[in-house]
Amino acid sequence: MSPVSVRVPAKINLCLGVGPVRDDGYHPLATVYQAVDLHDEVRAVVREDDAITVTVHSDVDARSEVAVVPVDDDNLAVRAARLLRDRTGVSAGVDLAIRKVIPVAGGMAGGSADAAASLVACNEAWGTGLARPALEVLAGQLGSDVPFLLHGGNAVGGGRGETVSPVLARGSYHWVFAMAHEGLSTKAVFAEFDRINEGRTVAEPAVPDALLAALRAGDAEALGDALSNDLTEAALSLRPELEDTLSIGIEAGALGAILSGSGPTALFLASDEQHSLDIAFALTSAAGCADVVQSRGPVPGARLI
Ligand code: ATP
Repeated sequence: MSPVSVRVPAKINLCLGVGPVRDDGYHPLATVYQAVDLHDEVRAVVREDDAITVTVHSDVDARSEVAVVPVDDDNLAVRAARLLRDRTGVSAGVDLAIRKVIPVAGGMAGGSADAAASLVACNEAWGTGLARPALEVLAGQLGSDVPFLLHGGNAVGGGRGETVSPVLARGSYHWVFAMAHEGLSTKAVFAEFDRINEGRTVAEPAVPDALLAALRAGDAEALGDALSNDLTEAALSLRPELEDTLSIGIEAGALGAILSGSGPTALFLASDEQHSLDIAFALTSAAGCADVVQSRGPVPGARLI
């Protein structure tokens, strides 16, 4: 029963178009995802009995938020293992250990990443042998961002985010992430989006052509100009201090600055390693910023190590 380990990246949304709320309560999304090199690890060890357990730990001092990650059936990695087991008829259990680096409730899909990693790890540990397309179907049932985290790289996301199609892209990008002291609930940000837009006409979302052109050309400057996020107003309404964080990065010369998904993590695009160091240094003075991380993207999705 040797352990199986899987590394899984965080995601950022280079654009996030949000449409009018649907009858099922979800919002249609038009997004371009990029997987970035901030990785969680999920280790799976098969059990003799049928229990599925999870532990969560972090080596990063600033991330005391791991305490709020559930260690029961609400953990998305456990849900993923259960779903795989139900679909394949396996009888064994598994012990899952998550090493958390992706900020919790940071708009970087850490829970979804762990679900994607758990699918890949348990599929290997239990020898269930599902091929990628079958895992992708299960991923879509677990959450909107889970299919992309299997996929990795750059991709266009449609539906409520779960339909993923590859995008023609060149280049590797330098990012700086400003993590906030406390997470933001995705549900609360969407509720605020609905409140703000009550009585307004919300257009069907679309991926901006300028963003796709920038990615095709591998042009970081054009990409910086094309970054967009329809949840900005809602997230800033709940966390006004994020405006300062964004301004500090822009003043430090970032090519573009937006919130990651529903926030509160802020993203800054840099032109190279030195530029990214300068922006990171400037951000250390932002009161709302708990931690600053330099990162690169795109990177592959959930992979065995
Ligand atoms: P997204 O970008 O997908 O909207 P997020 O990055 O803002 O999500 P997550 O870190 O995925 O947020 O966590 C949201 C909530 O999900 C947490 O507050 C926690 O209660 C719950 N959760 C369940 N399983 C996990 C997990 N493995 N890791 C982190 N959070 C989890």
